[in-house]
Amino acid sequence: MDCLFCKIIAGDIPSKKFYEDDEMIIIADIDPKAKYHYLLIPKKHFKLLADMTEEDATLLGRCLKKIPTLTEELHLQGGYRLVVNQGDNPGQTVPHLHVHILAGQKMGWQPA
Ligand code: AMP
Ligand code: ZN
Repeated sequence: MDCLFCKIIAGDIPSKKFYEDDEMIIIADIDPKAKYHYLLIPKKHFKLLADMTEEDATLLGRCLKKIPTLTEELHLQGGYRLVVNQGDNPGQTVPHLHVHILAGQKMGWQPA
């Protein structure tokens, strides 16, 4: 599969890993947009929420539930923002569903 994140998951491309289990990895974003910027990437390849099966939805729930258990390791004490880019308008560049975790500073732009 010619997918950057599948290659990172397989270990073919190096990454700075903060967490890994059978279902997900959490790595540092290579081009951080906040003091702390991680990517939570489910190991299963799918691009969009629209592509998810019921099982994938449950998996994604488990992924999100993992985040607050890593508050110390990820420096999330002051709160954090999750971003999921979907498709062209928000500028999704990697077609493998991932959740941006932004933390460590006040965020000026209020997208919602
Ligand atoms: P998106 O634009 O939502 O698809 O997000 C893709 C993210 O992947 C961007 O924030 C990039 O900075 C990040 N990225 C691209 N290549 C790498 C890499 N090799 N390791 C870690 N993050 C990456
Ligand atoms: Zn992939």
